[in-house]
Amino acid sequence: MPDIDWPLLLLCLAGSVTVGLLVFHLTAAFYFVRYYRRRGDAPAAWKIQERRWLKPGQHRAAAVRSSLNLTLGGLVSGALIYAVTQGMPTPLYFSVSDYGWTYTLLSIPLLLVLNDAGAYYAHRLMHTRRLYRRFHLVHHKYVATSPYVAIAVHPVELLVQQAASFLPLFVIPLHPSVIGVVLIYTLMFNVIDHSGVRLTSRLPWQGPSMFHDDHHAHFHVNFGQHLMLWDRLHGTLRRSDRSYGEAVFGGQGQVTPPQQSGAVFTGYR
Ligand SMILES: [Zn+2]
Ligand SMILES: [Zn+2]
Repeated sequence: MPDIDWPLLLLCLAGSVTVGLLVFHLTAAFYFVRYYRRRGDAPAAWKIQERRWLKPGQHRAAAVRSSLNLTLGGLVSGALIYAVTQGMPTPLYFSVSDYGWTYTLLSIPLLLVLNDAGAYYAHRLMHTRRLYRRFHLVHHKYVATSPYVAIAVHPVELLVQQAASFLPLFVIPLHPSVIGVVLIYTLMFNVIDHSGVRLTSRLPWQGPSMFHDDHHAHFHVNFGQHLMLWDRLHGTLRRSDRSYGEAVFGGQGQVTPPQQSGAVFTGYR
């Protein structure tokens, strides 16, 4: 049994939890204050689901659940970081010169795509009937979303998603800074995608916030995280000639005539 370096272990755990909580709360507070506090009386100008709002208690409950999950996730990440410092075998490299700048820079989009694939398939798994009712329902009770809903999931789901996103770290050589950039990007855009605010990104690969908001409004469709690629590949992107609902599993919706009332959905921009 190796000796445990307690000061280093505590530093890894506390550092990892603190970074996750800081990134989450700073991003969520920015969108919450900017839209829900300052422009709450004019939702038509910015809100995707104009008529649906969370009660104040639900914002709080989501913030608490997200914070507890980020603490759990941060502890797991911190323990992994500590294990790496103690010689756990991984393909990680710590000097850019080992693989060069070209590979190091290209590994950012590579990890983003691999993470996104992991998130899509883990999320689809959560939408099978049994796992949906047992675990994923916790997240889908928020039909209208708010920035604080982003990580408001069952802790089992958090660990499944974390395992899916960590898988590439054990397979391909990556520099720790690349992992940090991708994880922070993913957390920030998860908050933005749950903001409930009509937003599009200048980043061409990043789907609009309506893409995931529609996942909450229509349940079993649009399972992707940042990219809409996996939904396009599997035919699970929301379609204008289909109807969806909590009882319509499978991601393909039901064949229906074009929408009869309300705004007609024409796709994502
Ligand atoms: Zn879902
Ligand atoms: Zn969500």
